[in-house]
Amino acid sequence: MSRPPREFDRRRLMAWMARAGLAAGGLPLAGIAGAWPRNVDPNPKLADYPFTLGVASGDPAVDGFVIWTRIAPRPNEPHGGMAPAPVLVQWEVSEAENFAVLAAQGTALASPELAHSVHVEVGGLRPDRPYFYRFRIAGHVSATGRSRSLPLPHARLDRLRFAVAGCQHYEHGFYTAWRHIAAEPVDFIFHYGDYIYETNEKGDDTITLQGNSYPRARRHNAPEPISLDDYRRRYALGKQDADLQAAHAAAPFWVSFDDHEVDNDWADAVDQDGTPPEVFLYRRAAAFQAYYEHMPLRRQSMPDGPRMAMHRAARYGDLLNGFVLDTRQHRSDQIPGPYYAPITPEVADPRRTMLGAEQEAWLFNALNRSDTRWNLIAQQVMLMHLSLADKATGTQGYNLDRWSGYLHSRRRLLDHIDRACPGNVVTVSGDAHLHYAGDLVQDQGSGKIIASEFLATSISSGADGQGDDTMHSRHALAHNQALKAVCDRRGYVLCDVGREVWHADLKVIDRVTRPDGALSTWRRLAVERGHPGVVPA
Ligand code: FE
Ligand code: CA
Repeated sequence: MSRPPREFDRRRLMAWMARAGLAAGGLPLAGIAGAWPRNVDPNPKLADYPFTLGVASGDPAVDGFVIWTRIAPRPNEPHGGMAPAPVLVQWEVSEAENFAVLAAQGTALASPELAHSVHVEVGGLRPDRPYFYRFRIAGHVSATGRSRSLPLPHARLDRLRFAVAGCQHYEHGFYTAWRHIAAEPVDFIFHYGDYIYETNEKGDDTITLQGNSYPRARRHNAPEPISLDDYRRRYALGKQDADLQAAHAAAPFWVSFDDHEVDNDWADAVDQDGTPPEVFLYRRAAAFQAYYEHMPLRRQSMPDGPRMAMHRAARYGDLLNGFVLDTRQHRSDQIPGPYYAPITPEVADPRRTMLGAEQEAWLFNALNRSDTRWNLIAQQVMLMHLSLADKATGTQGYNLDRWSGYLHSRRRLLDHIDRACPGNVVTVSGDAHLHYAGDLVQDQGSGKIIASEFLATSISSGADGQGDDTMHSRHALAHNQALKAVCDRRGYVLCDVGREVWHADLKVIDRVTRPDGALSTWRRLAVERGHPGVVPA
């Protein structure tokens, strides 16, 4: 087979694509920058159906969104069963589920350097509309995904619905919660991280978590990941899950990573084992690349070695400005200590940072300028400053991996929210593997309620859990006036934002160690605009 034209030349490209049997009709050539690489395989021999990891969309804009897939006919094998050559993938976007009329289409490069992943930044679409998308290669057609463009920045928007979810340890449980999220009428899904876990649980038929034993749901297929191929294999395993694929196909995601995408409790260039930072950064670079390869992220988030731009903003008409933060990559190292530790002067050292100077300035400036009804701060770790009881010993203390370990950063953030956006900020987070909902107050001072937090439990991490009447939950509620609800079950938070009231349903699954757990709403809570604080709905 001849090589594709090296230089960009419409006529030669069309002729080459025709020879190669590629559908060139309607190819938006204006969108192609330069030429395909010389080694593109025009007739890839795929060992099997290649869309085994599903489709996804994310980072919506007024005129489009990112659509993602990965060509992986044998997803558990190195390179997904692909030869080490780039291939071309066709994509289509339509307002109709049957794709009768196409709103956009094109050809995208899937490179072996990026695990044959495809990230298309679709533009030119109409605002505030649902769209359908799919991919084709070598006679195969992907599943159809559904996405949505953003409303115009100043368009009146009366209602916005989204799910908050994350923490999906593959071995702890089935992804039943994702199947239920896929059926929710949401505009987007915020993923707060722990998309994979690098850790493997010990034990054969049962696993023991914080003193409780649960039936093992599933098993990772490889040791702890270190290299790029290791991390790819872990994403490929999890992304074969039909429930997770259904959620990605149902709505655009705003994704963010937390610690387990790299290593438990990593902070900036420091891992949990004391690896030399310049060495750990190689692992971080491998982990970031695999994360990018498997997420519907824009080119601006493509990693540059161990660095990756992950904080970003989204505006939903005149209703809501959303800010997705990165609380791992730019933070100071954790203060060493027990899981729940006492507060020492060091914890409030102003030199310690959770966001880093640049991200903090970006957020504060954006909040200064914000003129929407609500502001959403979507991040990874608990912002409430809660005295919690160790589940094993009962000792009260603060988790210093969360904002409690970065108290000066927390004080600055809450002060700024109170000045810039009084009464209209709601924060969402995760990581704790329990539902927590409550008020955000300064750790010292008047106790004025500044904002509200809904911390979503986990999709599966923590297995079935212990319910809402535990020593931990009783102590948490008794010691923390700001805390309004806590529950140790798996699930997600469903937010329904109106112009005056923000509703949040705390959804729980009765068990995840067997498939088909039952969904229920454990609590229905609300925040009234102008009156921060979580109240019963
Ligand atoms: Fe987690
Ligand atoms: Ca975490």
